[in-house]
Amino acid sequence: MVRKHLREMSFGVSDLLVAKPQLDELSRQVPLLYVLLSVNSLAVAYSLSDSAPFWLTTLMPVLLVVVCTCRVFLWMRRPTPPDAASARRALNRITVIAAILALAFVTWALALYSYGVREERAHIAVFMAVTMIGCIFCLMHLPQAALAVTAVVTIPYIAYSLYEKNTVFAGIAFNTLLVMLVMIRVLMNNFRGFRELVNSKEEMARLGRENLILANTDNLTGLSNRRLFFAELARMLEGAENTQGFVAVGLLDLDRFKPINDTHGHGVGDRLLEAVAQRLSQVQWEVPDLVVSRLGGDEFAFVGPLDKRSAEAVGVRLCEALAQPFELDDLVLTLGASCGVALSTDASGSAQELFNRADYALYQSKKNSRGQVCLYTLDHEREIRSEEALERALSTADLEAEMQLHFQPVVHFDTGAVQFVEALARWNSPVLGPVRPDLFIAAAERMGLIHDLTLVLFRKAVAALGQLPECVNLSFNLSAQDVTNPPTVLNLVSIVRQSGVDPRRIMLELTETAVMRDFRQADQSVTLLRSLGMGIALDDFGTGYSSLSYLHRLPIDKIKIDRSFVHALQDQSGHDLLRSILMLCQSMTLECVVEGVETVEQLATLRELGARAFQGYLFAKPMPMDALLAWIDADESEVARPARHAAQTV
Ligand code: C2E
Ligand code: CA
Ligand code: CA
Repeated sequence: MVRKHLREMSFGVSDLLVAKPQLDELSRQVPLLYVLLSVNSLAVAYSLSDSAPFWLTTLMPVLLVVVCTCRVFLWMRRPTPPDAASARRALNRITVIAAILALAFVTWALALYSYGVREERAHIAVFMAVTMIGCIFCLMHLPQAALAVTAVVTIPYIAYSLYEKNTVFAGIAFNTLLVMLVMIRVLMNNFRGFRELVNSKEEMARLGRENLILANTDNLTGLSNRRLFFAELARMLEGAENTQGFVAVGLLDLDRFKPINDTHGHGVGDRLLEAVAQRLSQVQWEVPDLVVSRLGGDEFAFVGPLDKRSAEAVGVRLCEALAQPFELDDLVLTLGASCGVALSTDASGSAQELFNRADYALYQSKKNSRGQVCLYTLDHEREIRSEEALERALSTADLEAEMQLHFQPVVHFDTGAVQFVEALARWNSPVLGPVRPDLFIAAAERMGLIHDLTLVLFRKAVAALGQLPECVNLSFNLSAQDVTNPPTVLNLVSIVRQSGVDPRRIMLELTETAVMRDFRQADQSVTLLRSLGMGIALDDFGTGYSSLSYLHRLPIDKIKIDRSFVHALQDQSGHDLLRSILMLCQSMTLECVVEGVETVEQLATLRELGARAFQGYLFAKPMPMDALLAWIDADESEVARPARHAAQTV
C-alpha cells in the first residue's frame, strides 16, 4: 500500500510527460508559499520578541525571509526546461530544497518553543499547523515534496512534544500529523486526476498529429496529397514574397494510364501508380525543398522554390523518369507523362492562379508536345484572355439561333459519288464574329456546355438529313465528353427515334481521345448507338496514342485518317506510314476515309496506296446546305473530275 503510494509519487518513465506541466503549476503556487512562510514567521517572531533572544526573534527570521525572497526571485526567473528529463531533475531539486527549508523552519520554531509561555507556545503550534497546511496546498502538484515537508516537520514536532512530556502539545502534534496524512491522501487523488489529464491531453495531441499526417497523405502512394500540396504552395508563396524568391508549380498527367487501367484492371492500375510515385519520390529527395504530391487519379504535381531553369529541369527529370517502362510481374507497361510548369515570377497572383497557369501549360503540353515539359509563357497569357472572352460570349449565346451547320462531302473515288456529308458546326457570334469550331467546342467542353451544344447541333443535323438525297448519308461529330456521358447518348437516341429518320443514314464520328478517356463507357455507348442502326467512325485516326488493335475491340464501322498524314505524304517515312495504316485497315476489313486531300497529286498517291474514299478541299470545302445541294445537283462529271484527273495521272 505504502509502496503503491510512493510509486504514485515517484517518477516513472511515463511520468516524464507530467514533469513539465507539474513545474508549470508549481511556478504559479510556490512563490505564494514563500510569501505565506515569511509572513507567518515574522508574526511568530514578533509575538515572541519579548521572551526569546535577539538571534532567534530577529536574526534567524530575517535570514529565513531573505532565503524565501531569493527563492521567490529565482522562481520568477526560472527558465522553461528544454525537455522532460530536465524538468524531472528540477522537480527532484525542489523536493530536496523543500525538505531542507522545512527542517530549517521547524528547527527555528522548536528553538523558539522553549522560550515561550503557554499562549506563545500555542501560537507556535498554530503557526506550524497552519503553515504546513498552506505549504501542502501549494505543493499539491508535487506530492513527494509535500510528503517530505510533512515528515520533516511533524516527526521532530511530535518527538519534541513527547520529550517535553507536554501531552497537550503532543496531542496537537499527532492531530496535525493525522490531518496532514488525510490531506496528503486527498492531494494524491487530485494529483492522479492531474496526471490523467496531462496524459489524455498528450494522447489527444498525438492523435491530432496522426490525423494531420493522414489528412495530408495520399493513401495509395504515400505522397503528400492535394491538401498538403496547396498548403505548401501557399507557404512557399508567402516565403517568396518576403524574400523576393521564386516558386514553381508543375503539374504532371500520365499519358497512357487510363487505357492501361481499363485493360488490365484497377489492381494493376493501383500498383502502377505506386511505382510512379516511387520514381517521383526519388527525384523529390534529390532536389532540396521540392514537394511532389498526388492530386488525384493519374495527376501529380510538384512545388518548390525553383527558378525557371531549375523548374524546367525538374519537369524534364520527372517526365524522363516516367518514360522508362514499368515492370509489374510479367507485364511491361509504358506510360509517359506530360508536364506543365508555371512560375510565380511570370505574373502576380494567388496560389490558385499559379496552379491554373500550370494547368494551362499542361494542357498545351498534352495537346502539342506530349511527354515533354511546357512552360507557361506570355503567349499563353494572351490565349487565356481570348479564351475567357470566348467563354463569356458562349455562356450568353443563344445556341439555337447562333449555331449553324455546314456540310462537307466525302467522295468515293471509283464512282465519284458522294457517300456522306460531314456536318461541321459554325458559330457566328454577335459579339466575336465567326469563331473556329475547334475553339468553341473545346470551350463548351471546359464550361460543361457541350451536352446542350451537341444536342442542338444534332437536332439540326437530323433535320438536314431530310433535305439530302436518299443515297447521301450524314456524318456527325461527337465531342470527347459526349461518348462517355450516358445522358447525352440517351438523348441522341431519342432525337433519332422522334425524328423518324432511318438511323442507318447517320454515322457518328468519335475521336481516339474520347474512347481512351473511358474505354468501358465508350464501348457501352457505341454498342447502344449501333444497336439502333447508326454507324460509328473513328475520327482523326493516328493523332492519338492508341493502337489500332486495341481500338478494334470497339465495334467501329469506319476510320477517318487524319489530314496530317496526307500532308506528310511527300516524305518517304510519311508515305510508308500511310501505306501501313491503309494495309492494316484492309486486313481488318475496316472502311476508311482519307481526310484533308487538297491536291490531285495527293489524291493520285493515295489512290496508288489503295485508298478509296476521300474528303478535302480538292473536292469541296464545308458549305451551307443550299450550296451543298447545288453542288450535288451539279453535273456528276464535274464532281468526279478531280478523281478522274487523278486516275489519268496514275
Ligand atoms: P474534323 O472532324 O476533323 O473536321 C474536319 C475539319 O477539316 C474541318 O474543319 C474541315 O473544314 C477541315 N478540312 C476539310 N478538308 C480539308 C482540307 O482539305 N484541308 C484542310 N486543311 N482542312 C480541311 P472545321 O470545320 O474547322 O472543324 C474543325 C474541327 O472542329 C473538326 O475536325 C471537329 O473536330 C470539330 N467540329 C466541327 N464541328 C463539330 C461538331 O458539330 N461537333 C463536334 N463535337 N466537333 C465539331
Ligand atoms: Ca470529323
Ligand atoms: Ca477529322
